[in-house]
Amino acid sequence: MFLEQVTRVEPHLGPLARWAETLRRPRRILTVDVPIHMDNGQIMHFEGFRVHHNTSRGPAKGGIRFHPEATMAEVMALSAWMTIKTALVNVPFGGGKGAVRVDPSQLSMSELERLTRRYTAEISLILGPDRDIPAPDVNTNPQIMAWIMDTYSMTVGSLTTGVVTGKPVNLGGSLGRADATGQGVFIVASRTAQKLGMDIAGARVAVQGFGNVGGSAARFLHSAGARIVAVQDVGGTLYCEKGINPFALTQHLKAGLSLTDFRGPGVLGRADFWDIESDILVPAALENQIDDVVARRLRTRIIVEGANGPTTPAGDDVLRERNIVVVPDVLANAGGVIVSYFEWVQDISALFWDEHEVSVRLRRLLEAAFEATWDTHLEKRIDLRRAAYVLACRRVLEARELRGLYP
Ligand code: GLU
Repeated sequence: MFLEQVTRVEPHLGPLARWAETLRRPRRILTVDVPIHMDNGQIMHFEGFRVHHNTSRGPAKGGIRFHPEATMAEVMALSAWMTIKTALVNVPFGGGKGAVRVDPSQLSMSELERLTRRYTAEISLILGPDRDIPAPDVNTNPQIMAWIMDTYSMTVGSLTTGVVTGKPVNLGGSLGRADATGQGVFIVASRTAQKLGMDIAGARVAVQGFGNVGGSAARFLHSAGARIVAVQDVGGTLYCEKGINPFALTQHLKAGLSLTDFRGPGVLGRADFWDIESDILVPAALENQIDDVVARRLRTRIIVEGANGPTTPAGDDVLRERNIVVVPDVLANAGGVIVSYFEWVQDISALFWDEHEVSVRLRRLLEAAFEATWDTHLEKRIDLRRAAYVLACRRVLEARELRGLYP
C-alpha cells in the first residue's frame, strides 16, 4: 500500500522525484529474538522488530505495537507512514515503528513486563532521545512506556525520560498525550465538516474500534453534539440511531465487560457495521479495512482515518469516484505524534506545560497541516491523501537533497 501511495505522488514531486527511491527503502531494520521466562517456568521466544524508515529530518519516531499477527512488512509500512506524518505536521522527526508478535492478553502482568524489558534491551542498540523515540501503539500503553524508559535508563546509567513518549504524566509524560490522537481526529473531522458545510452538532458518526483512538475521538465528537450511531469492535457492532453515549461505553469496557453486552443499543454482526448510514465514519482499528468492495458498500460522506492504513489504494479509488471525502491517516491521527513531540521537548528542556498550552499548540500545528493539505488538494485537483503526500514527501526529500549523500 505504501509503495503504491509513493508511486501515486511521484508525478507531483518535480525534480525531487529523483530522490523518491529513498522513500521506498527503510533506512534500517532490526529483527530481534525476545526470550522470556513464563510464570510457569517455561521459556518462550517471541519475534520483535524495530524499523527506522527515514531520519533525514530528525530521529526516528513512532509507536510499538504488540500484536500476534504483526509482520516485518507491516512494520515497514507503519514506519514509512510515520515519516510522512511527522513531515506533514512539520515536527523535527523521521519515521520509525516497532512490534512484537505476541498476543498480550495471554500474558500476565509480570510476563508482559519481562517481554517489554527484554525487547527494549534488544533494540536499545538503535534507541535514544536523539536517535529513535518509541511511543504507544496498538495494545501498548503508558505503563509499558514507563518500563521501556526504565530499561533504557538502567542500561545507559541515568534517567532518560526523552527516550520514549506516551509515558505516565508523573514520569515525564505530557498532559494531554493520552487523548491527543482522539482530539486530533475530532479537530480534523470538524474542519472537514466545516469545509463541506456540514454541522458537527447532530452529525451521525460511526466508529470502528473503541481503543485509545476510537474511544477518545467518540468522546470529543459526542461532546461537540455529534451522535455516535455505531461502534464496532472485534466482538460485534452496536447500533443506535438516537446515539450511543461514549462516556458510559468507556466505563462499561473499563469494567472488563464486552462491547456487545452494553445495554440499550441494538447488537449487529461485525460486518454489518459497513452498511450503517452515517455522515462521518472513523475507522480507528487496524490496516486494510476499507478495500474496493467495502468502499462500494459505505453510506457516509466523510471518512476520518483514526487508524494507520485503514483504506487500501483500490478503496481510495472507489471512494473518490463516489465523492466520499477521505481525510488520510497521516493527517487525521497525527495529534498523537504532535503531542509526543511536545512531550519530548518538555523532557529534554525539563520544563513542563499546562494542559491548555498543550491543547492550543496541538490545534495550531494540526490546523496548519490541515489547511495546507486542503489548499494543495484544491490547487492541484488531487485527493487529500495525495495532497498530504505531496507536502510531506517534498519536505523529506528536500532535507535529503540538502544533506546530500555520504560519503
Ligand atoms: N503510534 C502513534 C502513531 O501511529 C503515535 C506515535 C508517536 O507518538 O510517536 O502515530
